[in-house]
Amino acid sequence: MEQKKIAILGATGSIGTQALEVVEQHPEQFIVEVLTAQNNADLLIAQAQKFHPDTVIIGDESQYEKVKDALASEPIKVFAGKESINKIVESGEIDFVLTAIVGFAGLEPTLNAIRAGKTIGLANKETLVVAGEIIMQEAQKYQTPIIPIDSEHSAIFQCLTGEYPNEVKKLILTASGGPFRGETFESLQGKTRADALKHPNWDMGNKITIDSASMVNKGLEVIEAHWLFNVPAEKIDIIVHPQSIIHSLVQFYDGSIKAQMGLPDMRVPIQYALSFPKRLPNNFPDFDFSDYPQLTFEKPDKTVFRSIKIAYEVLEKSGNMPCIFNAANEIAVAAFLAEQIRFTDIFEVLEKTLNKVSYLRQPKFEELMASDMEARRQAEQIIKQIKL
Ligand code: NAD
Ligand code: MG
Repeated sequence: MEQKKIAILGATGSIGTQALEVVEQHPEQFIVEVLTAQNNADLLIAQAQKFHPDTVIIGDESQYEKVKDALASEPIKVFAGKESINKIVESGEIDFVLTAIVGFAGLEPTLNAIRAGKTIGLANKETLVVAGEIIMQEAQKYQTPIIPIDSEHSAIFQCLTGEYPNEVKKLILTASGGPFRGETFESLQGKTRADALKHPNWDMGNKITIDSASMVNKGLEVIEAHWLFNVPAEKIDIIVHPQSIIHSLVQFYDGSIKAQMGLPDMRVPIQYALSFPKRLPNNFPDFDFSDYPQLTFEKPDKTVFRSIKIAYEVLEKSGNMPCIFNAANEIAVAAFLAEQIRFTDIFEVLEKTLNKVSYLRQPKFEELMASDMEARRQAEQIIKQIKL
């Protein structure tokens, strides 16, 4: 049987390392062709020594010599820099590109991989938030499958399998509620970086962990779901489900609801994307009903977490608004992680940036790039004023 040759972009992150755990379970199915990382040269080297890819790329060019020297005795090609990451995805040797880079940086390589016809395992949700319309058009044009890895979207993808799209009444995204579920706006103001990085159910990279605490993550996911499944905003709901066992649901016209369940373990949706349409066995822990005597549900608090309201408005307007929303959020999260702004200032940075950057209804790719840059510049200005 042919092994699937995979490129993991962002191999050293939370998703990337878990993707390698999946590969390790199925050496007969998958072969690692390419690994990339931004800064963590030591881990990238260790991964390369273990998985023997054809190529590794370190984004930070100043670490090129270090990676090159460490792998000198292996037949592994080593490159550095953003352009190398953007280009490698086109290699004829690759079947599957797993996009586990965080943030806007994931957009270009994903787009190139789509145009090269590589099956995409999409973890990098920011790609669809920034340029969902273009991404989906290109995927259609090049007949490139995009298989979601985000747990909610993997769940919906699985629930939609075998169904007619026109019979879908609602997509229902579950949210854990994050570490600040049930808090008031006043209590949120005093939350520190350490408080926000304590997610109750998932162990993820810092950026998405802050996004989960602010519920911006759920907003990004509503936009992601809109583009992936071609469903309008008014048919996408959010329900808070603190146990994170139901990963999301689809309601149909006849009143029937399908839910996808399992332990909160990202290796499961990662493996599903890699093995789709097959399912493979593994040794990950199994769900046991007696460990979860209660699954509970509550409405999200859109007054305290106004990020959700902002995201729906942004999606309603679309054009370059989701791109501005994403850029402002990336800057706000970085400032919060650097302890330059308070937690609740994240919402303010989002609103103010969205008001500052001009709205474009049908932006071209270059215009989205420009909106991203302008939004980052504006968000930085806004943050300077907050700090004063
Ligand atoms: P992470 O911060 O743990 O890892 C990010 C990876 O991307 C690292 O390998 C890093 O080296 C690389 N990277 C960072 N900046 C880069 C840049 N500018 N250029 C090239 N590479 C860069 O992040 P993560 O938690 O693994 O999340 C990755 C993506 O998956 C995000 O888009 C996130 O929203 C999404 N996602 C993550 C989870 C999760 O459980 N971690 C769940 C759902 C979706
Ligand atoms: Mg998710």
